Amino acid sequence: MSRKLFIAGNWKMNHTNAVAKEVLADLKAQVAGVTTVDIAICPTFTTLPTALEVLEGSNIAVGAQNVHFAANGAYTGEISAEMLNELNVPFVIIGHSERRQYFAETDETVNQRTKAALAAGIKPIVCVGETLEERQAGDTIKVVETQIKGAFEGISEAELANITIAYEPVWAIGTGETATPQQAQDVHAEIRKLVAALYTQAAADAIIIQYGGSVKPGNVVELMGQEDIDGALVGGASLKADDFAALVNNVA
Ligand code: PEP
Repeated sequence: MSRKLFIAGNWKMNHTNAVAKEVLADLKAQVAGVTTVDIAICPTFTTLPTALEVLEGSNIAVGAQNVHFAANGAYTGEISAEMLNELNVPFVIIGHSERRQYFAETDETVNQRTKAALAAGIKPIVCVGETLEERQAGDTIKVVETQIKGAFEGISEAELANITIAYEPVWAIGTGETATPQQAQDVHAEIRKLVAALYTQAAADAIIIQYGGSVKPGNVVELMGQEDIDGALVGGASLKADDFAALVNNVA
């Protein structure tokens, strides 16, 4: 089963509108000919309108980095799916490990946020991954399975078709430490098996599973060459146009 690679950049809390405009115009030019890879950039909330404007009509989609599950209300600092929809944002990252670590996200809130995004027609990129301690204890698969079962509770197979999974071992995020292609492949294969068990083999064959954790132009080819790795969620190497363009072009 061939799946189209999906490479998304997560800018986290980086880049003002002025910088975003320059980086995205440069990136757009450098990947303009790419048709074999789906590309997205997830900038900050305040730079979403700039990103949507600069990238309109290009082959780069735009995503948000979070969405709240409530329609509106007393949730200081949060953004609703309706607000993202008003801007026509097609993707949203949900449950990134930094959200889980610093902002008390749980499998339950990830599930609620995923449902809110789906209900609004926004495609979630749902992040899962183990900490170093969990890997060293031999609990990687158990942890990832619990996160996926929690995140997908009550989500139908039809809805699943709009979800991307990002496997991001926490110990490899922003550390320069990458899972070896085999370590990543092993977990991706287990995730696909779990999706087959929870849904169907067809759903498992179709779902895009990105790898995230210090993906760079120099290691992307080997990682994307693994059977069950269908793309990447990229932090640091998505901040500069040259790096992200090289990363995409190396596998296009
Ligand atoms: C991420 O934040 O999702 C990520 C994978 O970061 P980095 O590429 O910097 O490790």
